[in-house]
Amino acid sequence: MSGPAPAPEAEGTALRLPRRIATRILAEAQRGGGREVCGLIGARGGEPVSLYPVPNAAADPARRFQMDPRGQIEAMRRMREADETLWAIYHSHPQGPARPSLRDLAEAAYPEAVHLIVSLGTTGVLELAAWRIAGGEAREVPIEIVETGDG
Ligand SMILES: [Zn+2]
Repeated sequence: MSGPAPAPEAEGTALRLPRRIATRILAEAQRGGGREVCGLIGARGGEPVSLYPVPNAAADPARRFQMDPRGQIEAMRRMREADETLWAIYHSHPQGPARPSLRDLAEAAYPEAVHLIVSLGTTGVLELAAWRIAGGEAREVPIEIVETGDG
């Protein structure tokens, strides 16, 4: 069952991100080490529920990401089969801040999706930020980490 599409959040309204999803994104980013990792997040009824890691096929994965086309198609297929809709695209910045690079702005696909960026930073402190990207411009959206009961 896929309910009506969630309305775009009003200015200042935080996105609700279940803690288990946030934890998985951070774990993926750490596993990637010096490489950027990427993937999709599916939602049901507007609530993010599943993480679909996609291999980074970029020639220079330390500096950019390019979702492996087959992996991306497979992730979208699994998402549809699970009756989920695309909620967000996530990727990591092993070096840079949790904000879109110029290339991210130029190459951003799916304007309806949230762009989550996790930074491993230089201080060892993980940082996760959400962005709306449209027309080459990014607007940060606050995230609220929420506890959910469905494991
Ligand atoms: Zn990036």
